[in-house]
Amino acid sequence: MLGANDMFVAFRGVQKTYDGDTLVVKDLNLDIARGEFLTMLGPSGSGKTTTLMMLAGFEAPTHGSILLAGRSIDNMPPHKRDIGMVFQNYALFPHMTVEENLAFPLKVRRLGKLEREAKIKRALEMVRLGPYGGRRPGQLSGGQQQRVALARALVFDPKLVLMDEPLGALDKQLREHMQLEIKHIHEGLGVTVVYVTHDQSEALTMSDRIAVFNEGAIKQLAAPAELYERPRNAFVAQFIGENN
Ligand code: ATP
Repeated sequence: MLGANDMFVAFRGVQKTYDGDTLVVKDLNLDIARGEFLTMLGPSGSGKTTTLMMLAGFEAPTHGSILLAGRSIDNMPPHKRDIGMVFQNYALFPHMTVEENLAFPLKVRRLGKLEREAKIKRALEMVRLGPYGGRRPGQLSGGQQQRVALARALVFDPKLVLMDEPLGALDKQLREHMQLEIKHIHEGLGVTVVYVTHDQSEALTMSDRIAVFNEGAIKQLAAPAELYERPRNAFVAQFIGENN
């Protein structure tokens, strides 16, 4: 069992409406342990991205509270949360080289040149892109660009990394390869990852625990094997069964 001190992220009674009417996230209560790989899995429109955006600070909960390392972050702006983020469409700066892309979050945090260079070198080695620092994103393959995005999310040593469908744009083979790479990096760094996908097999392969979302609520929260072997309700059974 997890102790109170192991909790790193906590959603407490979090609700979200965009138009003041429909609840897209309904009374969310979720604890995520330090170092955990937690996946939010569910169909399109089930509230996964909204939940991630609230954790990142780009959307405010309509009700409830979010805690990071035991402290409320309700009024903390995104840049103060020190969270790394990777999204499907990478959002690299096209006019900057790979190294300049990685330097950006370090400059924002006012790190000096030598420290920046050391961190960039280490991050590029971590994603096995050591020789590519001088290229622009347009001169890289999709998989390489996604690795740059991963390096940029990790370069400032965040304690928490959010990933929203980070492999959605990649073909199947590369996707499976990157799943292993992300797992490997997660295990090596011990960083906490909150991962969003609608892909059941991706979630089952990568996660410590999976929160299955539907219509703005968690239908089951469990380790992959338990979810697969003992789905708690018809929705989970049907959704996990699809494509598996
Ligand atoms: P997907 O896998 O398609 O990204 P999701 O599970 O991440 O889906 P959300 O993007 O969180 O789901 O969307 C949940 C609901 O909130 C959807 O009905 C969506 O239309 C609505 N929604 C999302 N963002 C906004 C917004 N900025 N304004 C109004 N409604 C929104």
